[in-house]
Amino acid sequence: MTIAVVSAMHEELAAVLALMPDEHKEVVAGREFWRGHLHGREVVAVLSRIGKVAAATTATVLVERFGVERIVFTGVAGGLGPGVKVGDIVVADSFLQHDLDASPIFPRYEVPLYGQSRFATDPQLSAQLAAAAKEALPGVTLHRGLVISGDRFVATTAESRALQLALPEALAVEMEGAAIAQVCHDYGLPFAAVRTISDRADDAAHGDFTRFIQEVASRYSAAIVAALLAPTSASRAS
Ligand code: SAH
Repeated sequence: MTIAVVSAMHEELAAVLALMPDEHKEVVAGREFWRGHLHGREVVAVLSRIGKVAAATTATVLVERFGVERIVFTGVAGGLGPGVKVGDIVVADSFLQHDLDASPIFPRYEVPLYGQSRFATDPQLSAQLAAAAKEALPGVTLHRGLVISGDRFVATTAESRALQLALPEALAVEMEGAAIAQVCHDYGLPFAAVRTISDRADDAAHGDFTRFIQEVASRYSAAIVAALLAPTSASRAS
């Protein structure tokens, strides 16, 4: 059973690779895939790259070339929900593409020919990921629910307000999750995603994001992944 650990940022991938004693690099589609072990489990670690298309390609290669049977994503996101603060953690229950709009032919946000706008994550793997996050980072606030993705770094208060109005259930916004969720839906592969809130997707987002990446994000991701794959952990991914 091979698990893919997909990170959004270099800092996060480096922290995951530091936990792998034996990783070997394979380059496919210009991406560096690191095959090895983490706590004795077979793992392929890779950078998603930024944006929906790039993330979908990475996910497809993971399935087709590396035969992974689960995908776990760790990254950062902008907080949208009223109580979702910088430093909180969100485990996604489902994803939606906030910039997809083929109306009036299809309802806004619906992915044409799928008949749905939301793609659920795997309930069991998501529960394990949430348990791992709680175990690794006790005292950090954890939210679960809808995360939205689009090919835009949301960095103005006007845009985040518009998203909050249009999609009041959305806890956080990022740029990859919905694409990977759709690929995993197509292949019938369990997918789970955890995002640490790096900014509030508002006028201060750019500065907050940069500070957060350097100070917190990589430590959080590696700690959660280590807890998820630890042989003794109650949250151990099966
Ligand atoms: N120039 C930046 C680009 C990062 S894009 C850099 O230093 O590399 C932001 C990344 O973090 C994306 O992968 C996205 O998934 C996530 N993210 C964090 N905050 C976000 C926000 N407010 N809006 C959209 N994506 C966000």
